[in-house]
Amino acid sequence: MSTDKNDTVLVISAHAADFVWRAGGAIALYHSRGCHVRVLCLSYGERGESQKLWREPGMTIERVKQARRLEAERAAEVLGAEIRCFDAGDYPLKPTDELLDELVQEFRRLQPTIVLTHAPNDPYNGDHPETARLALNARVYAQAMGYPSEHKHLGAPPVFHFEPHQPEMCDFKPQVLLDITSVFDRKRKAMECMEAQEHLWEYYTQLALRRGTQAVRNSGRKEIRYAEAYQRTYPQVTDQFS
Ligand SMILES: [Zn+2]
Repeated sequence: MSTDKNDTVLVISAHAADFVWRAGGAIALYHSRGCHVRVLCLSYGERGESQKLWREPGMTIERVKQARRLEAERAAEVLGAEIRCFDAGDYPLKPTDELLDELVQEFRRLQPTIVLTHAPNDPYNGDHPETARLALNARVYAQAMGYPSEHKHLGAPPVFHFEPHQPEMCDFKPQVLLDITSVFDRKRKAMECMEAQEHLWEYYTQLALRRGTQAVRNSGRKEIRYAEAYQRTYPQVTDQFS
């Protein structure tokens, strides 16, 4: 990934917590460099990723959504990102024309230089690949000069897919290992905002340690302790191999 402090990062997350587990380190890292980071949260994960809340007697869909929204907002604040929640529903996430158009306009308004979203495959959760598909389509439509918008068309920001929960089953290859050692304490604090999924705090801490070990093995940089893995869809364009 680039390290330009003028970078603008757009993160498109299916559910309230996905951006925290999978890209919280990247968000905090870019925020620490003075970059603008915006998270689009398409739904709250109220049906599919809120099991603990549903065990409480008398729980309602509106209370679950409210709880997940507050958690996501607190986590985004810890990471240094602004957040917009769409309430597009989950299980299934509904890819309406209005939602797609609003994502295109987000790309046009923000003009991101880096895009983070889900991996294209996930047999455990159809909302994740649906979000990846929406994000990739919105990016491509935002590039088209003929697409109606008051904002100028988009360049070609690189897309990095964040790591799914069971990467081997999603054909996910960790092509990019991002050193998040300097901001891991903020990622952990953000994870701890997601009280409805406390069982994942330690899981994603251990994953960051494993990816950190792999980052050392692949770079020789022994100071790396924590990392996040990403996969690319489009080729890296460069004038020097790195
Ligand atoms: Zn999710």
